[in-house]
Amino acid sequence: MNITAPTTQEYVAHLKTGVQACLVCDANPIVGSWTDYNGQIRCGKCGMTYQILGSHLTDAFLAEQGLTKDDIAKRYCDAFMEWPLCQAFWEQTGKQIPFGTYLSSGPISPAAYDAFYWWVWEHRSEIKPQYEEIFKWDIMEERFGKNN
Ligand SMILES: [Zn+2]
Repeated sequence: MNITAPTTQEYVAHLKTGVQACLVCDANPIVGSWTDYNGQIRCGKCGMTYQILGSHLTDAFLAEQGLTKDDIAKRYCDAFMEWPLCQAFWEQTGKQIPFGTYLSSGPISPAAYDAFYWWVWEHRSEIKPQYEEIFKWDIMEERFGKNN
């Protein structure tokens, strides 16, 4: 496995160009369903999430990057920083990524969350240094550490 987290520069470039095909599973066009988060869809094939109604970005982030809402593509991956590891998960397991914001239970099963986070935990030697802030490593350790 060779996961390299995108840089902030790559993220900003992605926000400007957007996507046509799904970054993870190559579905083109991306066909999915709405989540409970405004403007967010979830790829029906792999579970990756996208914004299709414009920006979910904060004014502070835009200002920091020298961007305005008009600079942002119509459709972009709102989990762009995680896409390389999501693609590796998808390719290795064939399982859907449990992303998407849901106010109640939503369509993602507890087993799907477990499969994903267990996989992240298993590959923590490669993932953790690059995604220290993204995952709750202490919670994963509590949950999976004894079995590994
Ligand atoms: Zn997909």
